[in-house]
Amino acid sequence: MRRPSRVLDTDVCIVGAGPHGLAATLLFKRLAPSVSVTVIDRTNKWLQAWSRQFEHAGITVLRSPIVHHPYPDALALDTFQIQNGFSASGLPYNPPTSECFSAFCSEIIHDAGLDDPLIAVPQLVHANQNQIELITSTGIIHSRYLIVASNPHYKIIPQWAQDLFRKPNLIRHASDVNLLDMTDLDGQSITVIGGGMTAAHLAKGAALKGASVKMISRRPLQIRNFDTDPGWLGPKYLSDYYSETIASKRIQIAQEARGGGTIPPWIHDVLLDFVNEGDIELLESTEVMSAQPTSTEGCLLKLKDEKEIYSDQVWLATGTCSSLQSMECLHPVLENISFVDGFPILDSSLRLKPHPVYVMGRSATFALGPAAGNLWGATRAAHRITRDITGVELISNGS
Ligand SMILES: Cc1cc2nc3c(=O)[nH]c(=O)nc-3n(C[C@H](O)[C@H](O)[C@H](O)COP(=O)(O)OP(=O)(O)OC[C@H]3O[C@@H](n4cnc5c(N)ncnc54)[C@H](O)[C@@H]3O)c2cc1C
Repeated sequence: MRRPSRVLDTDVCIVGAGPHGLAATLLFKRLAPSVSVTVIDRTNKWLQAWSRQFEHAGITVLRSPIVHHPYPDALALDTFQIQNGFSASGLPYNPPTSECFSAFCSEIIHDAGLDDPLIAVPQLVHANQNQIELITSTGIIHSRYLIVASNPHYKIIPQWAQDLFRKPNLIRHASDVNLLDMTDLDGQSITVIGGGMTAAHLAKGAALKGASVKMISRRPLQIRNFDTDPGWLGPKYLSDYYSETIASKRIQIAQEARGGGTIPPWIHDVLLDFVNEGDIELLESTEVMSAQPTSTEGCLLKLKDEKEIYSDQVWLATGTCSSLQSMECLHPVLENISFVDGFPILDSSLRLKPHPVYVMGRSATFALGPAAGNLWGATRAAHRITRDITGVELISNGS
């Protein structure tokens, strides 16, 4: 690897300009404005991956309530919605529309005077107890602290799909499906695999574009208002979780709490409307065992009950798996860090001790619980990390 010549010195370097990186940046700005913070990302736009995932899947409303967002004051988005005349979603628990959420994020970024993220992808990270050196695609960064907020993960591709996955446009992971780009799916048979929000939105989106859709879920559809029980956002469940000292038990508890995909009642009702119109068929409690290509460019899916269904396209809304280890540049730092099921064992400040390296997002599950990857986790992680680095406590945010 050639060493880039440009060197930038900063107090804190944050990798990832998503909601988590933004929450941390805003809190540094609030608590310790003299601390220099450099945010790097693949693009120079805040929340690019976040916005893309909503636009591509046609998701117009968040799942989480309006008090969850990257800004340190919980009520700020609600106030913004009212003051700027955005319509409320009208759904139970008042989740904001994605349009209002995006406008709010643009405003808080602007008001805090945040620079655009620097385009840089870390290629190698060296750390000792007092200093980080990041060799990136565009230069070297020397930093006192590093915060990993890049949501490292890999796509979950079921075994039966792995061969055909390489064929373009036949089997795709949900994160590669862009409904915006598809004008017309008239006459197409589309099978969506999964029983969560992304599956439901993609099924709805494909049906609206004229496709005949099948949605296959291993379990009966699980109807829940939130992906994680709200008891996990406070002492109800977290007190016991934090007192669990055996790492493997904690992770097991967190994974069980998260479970598989779930959908709130309102989107279930939307799906049922499409089912009644004959545009979507729900195949619950079954799974695909194999997929064979056909001469018509499509594939034949064989289900557990021997039933066969033809599909022009298969979309895998099978989720992603959090994986800090998938960031190869971090391997020198991760050498002596323990992992359970891919989750790093962090201290309560989300630090990968002894290095001055912190993690946010799903990678912080051990320390924050099953909602670590959600917006709730963004402000909690930001709080704990900034407190550890600056010694200053945000009074209003009780985590
Ligand atoms: C469809 C969908 C809907 C969701 N809806 C909600 C919801 O309503 N409420 C809720 O609380 N949670 C929701 N979530 C969960 C979670 O809040 C989101 O996944 C959120 O995007 C996570 O934020 P993040 O900052 O951790 O990661 P991201 O939003 O993925 O941001 C990570 C950033 O890091 C950058 N990056 C990645 N790798 C590198 C690298 N190597 N170098 C430099 N930069 C890099 C990316 O470009 C990206 O900008 C949803 C998730 C999905 C998939």
